[in-house]
Amino acid sequence: MIHLLLTAVMAGASAGCAMNPVSGTPDLVFMSESSEVNIGSTNDAKIREKYGVYDNPELQAYVQQIGQKLAEQSHRKNLGYHFTVLDSPEVNAFALPGGYIYITRGIMAYINSEAELAAVLGHEIGHVTARHGVRQHSAATATGMVGAIIGVATGVRVSQDLFNVLGNAMLSGYGREHELESDRLGAEYMARAGYDPQAVIKVIGILKNQEEYEKKTAAAENREARIYHGVFASHPSADKRLQEVVGEADRYKTLSAPYVGRENYLKQIENLSFGTVKKAGVLVGNRYYLPESDLSFDFPKGWSVQPALTSLTTVSMASNDQQARLQLDIHDLDKDVTPDEFLKRHMQLNDLPKGESVKGLSQPSFTTILPMASGFSANETRVTVMHYNNKRLLLQGTAKTPGAFATADRVFLALAGKLRPLKAEEKTAVERRGQGQRLRVIRAVSGDSFATLAKKSTLEKYSEETLRLINDKFPDGEPQAGESIKIIE
Ligand SMILES: [Zn+2]
Repeated sequence: MIHLLLTAVMAGASAGCAMNPVSGTPDLVFMSESSEVNIGSTNDAKIREKYGVYDNPELQAYVQQIGQKLAEQSHRKNLGYHFTVLDSPEVNAFALPGGYIYITRGIMAYINSEAELAAVLGHEIGHVTARHGVRQHSAATATGMVGAIIGVATGVRVSQDLFNVLGNAMLSGYGREHELESDRLGAEYMARAGYDPQAVIKVIGILKNQEEYEKKTAAAENREARIYHGVFASHPSADKRLQEVVGEADRYKTLSAPYVGRENYLKQIENLSFGTVKKAGVLVGNRYYLPESDLSFDFPKGWSVQPALTSLTTVSMASNDQQARLQLDIHDLDKDVTPDEFLKRHMQLNDLPKGESVKGLSQPSFTTILPMASGFSANETRVTVMHYNNKRLLLQGTAKTPGAFATADRVFLALAGKLRPLKAEEKTAVERRGQGQRLRVIRAVSGDSFATLAKKSTLEKYSEETLRLINDKFPDGEPQAGESIKIIE
């Protein structure tokens, strides 16, 4: 199923040959358990800052409780597990080494029972117990991905994929074999904890439908799709190997009538935020608004926001012809550090090419072109650092070819020069718009259909299809009288 691996620093990795907790055979993993936990906890802070923690203590406690129940049945029950619901509309879940597991509110809207939630969490626990992240860690080190997630560029070579690191890790996941192993382990932990392992197949089916529909609409809108990484090519109903590994878990069942917990789960997600909220920024017409940072800018014509790479602190943009990319990162400002000094430290460079300040800005700024080759860019990156109220803004722009760079560079500079705070009326409008939609659970009555529910919904587009997808009724199911149905208000 899922995977976004966020690797990071080589936190005191100690060489050694440890026993694999799952197989019990020696594992050529050069890392101790305490180093694993160290990587997890160091990056936990970054993840929380980047995505934001969903503000609902009851829901957090519920997810922690279900996760803990599964972890106690796992091959590494002594590890301290931390389950966190992130305030992100992305449909995702992932694990860091050492027992740090995340699930987005975005994916929670698509889940329909406690057993399905357990399937997602159990799968992530499987990645932790089988130490997939640790194994991937070495691969990531080799390819220079390490460090980018925490924004530490160790010179030209590592910063080559500043834009793509997160995206690539999300899309590549752990690969088919590790995903299947996690599905198998997750199913086992579920069975031992009293859930029906078949919920694994069920939830992957729901997410597969979401993926197919999302890919279609994203292509039509010329934007990146928000999908669950690691849902494999075939539909789970036709995926023999997945069915096999889940079927094997039946022998661990402790209950003849396993717990499903549909109504209980739906009660827990009543009033859940749905879709994008103001914090992540809003594009209205040709202006992009970031109310949290009191910042707005002219959005480049012929460009789109990349939702999968945009977060509380990052706005990621790409030209519609996919020839150029631009990323804006917003951080708290340490005023003692000048823009050029910051850039040197951030990129770990001894010297910077000659630069200048951004025209039209009254606050300190520095912009230059760094010679950086990468998988994406030709060989240049426009880097701009600006002080903006109490924030430091870092803009990085690249393009595929020198010709595309020359064109895009005008866009990079124009955007930097036209930043401004929000006007009072804009603030009100954006905040109202950004309060976001909420998920509610109703009892369907005779005559209800997704068409009629869609008409009453605040969803702006694809409302009927979205309601079917989140209710596991895609493509043509209808609500049955008396059934609990999720709607979006
Ligand atoms: Zn996975």
